[in-house]
Amino acid sequence: MIASGAPNAERVRIVFAGVRNAGKSSLMNRLFQRDVSIVSPEPGTTTDPVSRPIELGRLGPALVVDTAGLDDSGELGRLRVERSRAALEVADIRVLVTPADRPPAPAELELAGRIAAGSGPLLVALTFDDRERDPRKDAWLSALGAQAIVPADNTTGRGAAELRESLMALSDRVRPEPGILENLVVEDELVLLVTPIDLAAPKGRLIMPQVEAIREVLDRDCAALVVKERELARFYPLLRERPSLVVTDSQAFSKVAADIPEDQRLTSFSILLARKKGDIRAYLAGVEAIETLPENAKILVIESCSHHRQAEDLGTVKIPRLFRQLVPKAASFSFSREMPGVEALREYSLVITCGNCMRTRREVLSQLERLGEAGVPVTNYGVFLAWANGLLPRAVELFPELAELRMAR
Ligand code: SF4
Repeated sequence: MIASGAPNAERVRIVFAGVRNAGKSSLMNRLFQRDVSIVSPEPGTTTDPVSRPIELGRLGPALVVDTAGLDDSGELGRLRVERSRAALEVADIRVLVTPADRPPAPAELELAGRIAAGSGPLLVALTFDDRERDPRKDAWLSALGAQAIVPADNTTGRGAAELRESLMALSDRVRPEPGILENLVVEDELVLLVTPIDLAAPKGRLIMPQVEAIREVLDRDCAALVVKERELARFYPLLRERPSLVVTDSQAFSKVAADIPEDQRLTSFSILLARKKGDIRAYLAGVEAIETLPENAKILVIESCSHHRQAEDLGTVKIPRLFRQLVPKAASFSFSREMPGVEALREYSLVITCGNCMRTRREVLSQLERLGEAGVPVTNYGVFLAWANGLLPRAVELFPELAELRMAR
């Protein structure tokens, strides 16, 4: 069970949830066959979600998250419960850990309502199975619709192997994140990647979507040619074979489009990420909504991670400036690292998110659900920049899944 080097955003997220002292941390230690989470008879030992990577056979690389008790109390406890619920919201597999010898607690009943409404597979680990079973627990569990109920005894470790097996058995039900070039290239093709090395580029390395694209080109038995935008005009005409796809950094979109033939397939790393991590249709609808924004619209720009801001920062400077150049209506911009709750979102007319390369697909889809509930259109940097450069139709026409949308127009 040695964890591979897969990034956390690519791992299947397995979240353990339950009331305090249900045996979540002990069970996690049994699953890992070593101490990865602190265990104590004191209720509420786990205060913040604890994440550990694991390899689970046919399920592949996974991240197991141990959460604070859902019945935690007090001001701090309420915040911990919020964090546990947030972790559950983005889980690929939920594991409800519940003591066999106790009736369902109010927090468990409340959780069951949420779990039933949510999507994704559910397992139940019935801890303290060495004790006499409470009959009310059985009746409640049978109504939960879990894929498996695994009796476990953390003192002896009985049940840990069955839990591992039950997790692996869910491999068909957990949809893997699609590849960044999914359905876009086939073997033996050439892919040209345009990666500016400017002040915003990290020193000595490429950013995640660029690395991911190169790796996937190799996985698909294709070849990658990587150039900066300044060298593109010189190298492109030298190619004996036309690339099947050109992928550029969004900020160089116009220059790249001008330096290659009009019928060359072209898109951007951000648009590929939007398609891989989120819902490209939602982002296209979001950019269309710009035309009907009200006067004095409030726009929220969300970047999922902190990074050193340059003077010409994309999210806080370039996007608001482009918006003001292109949209003849007054608008105010706010900036955040987190997606607000549904109520707080309702004050905005539009949300623009970054490429979300640090987030899992499940997390991004959960954010999109929240935006849908709040009725707020959303787009992302890549789609916005392609639209602003007048290149959006070209940048998405290569996606086979949008063929329907194009035909309806
Ligand atoms: S998570 Fe967002 S802000 Fe952070 S590096 Fe990725 S795209 Fe940029």
